[in-house]
Amino acid sequence: MRILVTNDDGIHATGLTELARALCRVGEVLVVAPERQQSAGGHAITLHKPLRLDPVALPDAGCPAYATNGTPADCVVLGCLAFPAPPDLVVSGINAGANMGEEVLYSGTASAAMEAAINGVPAFAISVTAYSDCIYEPAAGFAVQLAQHLSEVRLPPDCFLNVNVPNCPVEEIGGVSVTRLGRRSYVNELSRREDPHGRAYYWFTGEAAEIDSGPGTDIGEVAANRISVTPVHFDLTSYSHIESLDETIGRLRLEAPGGK
Ligand code: MN
Repeated sequence: MRILVTNDDGIHATGLTELARALCRVGEVLVVAPERQQSAGGHAITLHKPLRLDPVALPDAGCPAYATNGTPADCVVLGCLAFPAPPDLVVSGINAGANMGEEVLYSGTASAAMEAAINGVPAFAISVTAYSDCIYEPAAGFAVQLAQHLSEVRLPPDCFLNVNVPNCPVEEIGGVSVTRLGRRSYVNELSRREDPHGRAYYWFTGEAAEIDSGPGTDIGEVAANRISVTPVHFDLTSYSHIESLDETIGRLRLEAPGGK
């Protein structure tokens, strides 16, 4: 099995090295990752500047590695097209910090896996739920098991798996739950400050407010010290509203501007 490993924390992130090294036990691993931090960069792709693919020595990873000046989604496209054979599996991570609920929409880690799914390549994104003092071993171990499983059982089309692993020793993890996305909206606040020249600058701040975090959600299961695996589909259509909106918006008719 050929496995493409990428991330959004950048080529020098510890989680990337840990993931690549673990997956070498399952297949032939190739790393293509952004040259610098791209967290919360979402699903952007690069269309207006040339992309570079520079070989990088990652001795601890034990596999070939390339850094790009592109985004996580670019890394997946490059990894699928720039090498003699496309990968059989794309794995994105191990991200430092959870990606749950609507964070999936902002996450470069999840977006890389989604880009793979769009291109018909099985994929999963994997994150640990801490930004510092990360414990990567349980996530790396689970990534190996999941990769092995996906070499035998194909994922449904158009979907990827979003995995969140509690940041604790493996013996404290209670098991694996297949979940739905919860909701953890951020209360956005703006901190306005002034630079030494008197010009204003702004930082986003604010705290997460949990809206839907019960049992069966990614947030709830991770809080219960279980590994959360959410199947994510990129079709954002709100199917339950099509019929009622067709009764109202669907009946609007075009009129000439300023018409009677
Ligand atoms: Mn990240």
